Amino acid sequence: MSHPARLLAESARLAAACTACGECVKVCPMPAFAGLPAAEPALVAAGMRAVLLGQPAAPEGVAWVAACTRSGQCNAACPERLDVAFMLRLAGMRAKGATGEAPLVAVKGDAGWASRVKAFARMTMTEEEQAKWL
Ligand code: SF4
Repeated sequence: MSHPARLLAESARLAAACTACGECVKVCPMPAFAGLPAAEPALVAAGMRAVLLGQPAAPEGVAWVAACTRSGQCNAACPERLDVAFMLRLAGMRAKGATGEAPLVAVKGDAGWASRVKAFARMTMTEEEQAKWL
């Protein structure tokens, strides 16, 4: 299974288990930083779930996904015992267009990204492997 297909399948599985109750949003420290302190938690959670499914999402949900800093405080609050932090990570990937859809959030350009990946990869390779790779 390809990476995007796996992302879509896992997103759909987790979204199907989420009831959009909003308990994860209530304990999250980020809504205040994202300008969402007055937003309805269930609306925000439903937006995150919609992003996971590639469906039209409330702007509040998209903003929450984009604001996630992986505090992980959401996980303990979920009555369905879902890995909410992982759901937000997947939703963030989808929001940035990882499955080929138009990005929902701004994606920062990083001209040095490829050279850093190559440098780290080289550190894990033997000289023989590097000779074949380069
Ligand atoms: S607490 Fe769990 S079930 Fe409720 S909205 Fe968050 S992820 Fe979904």
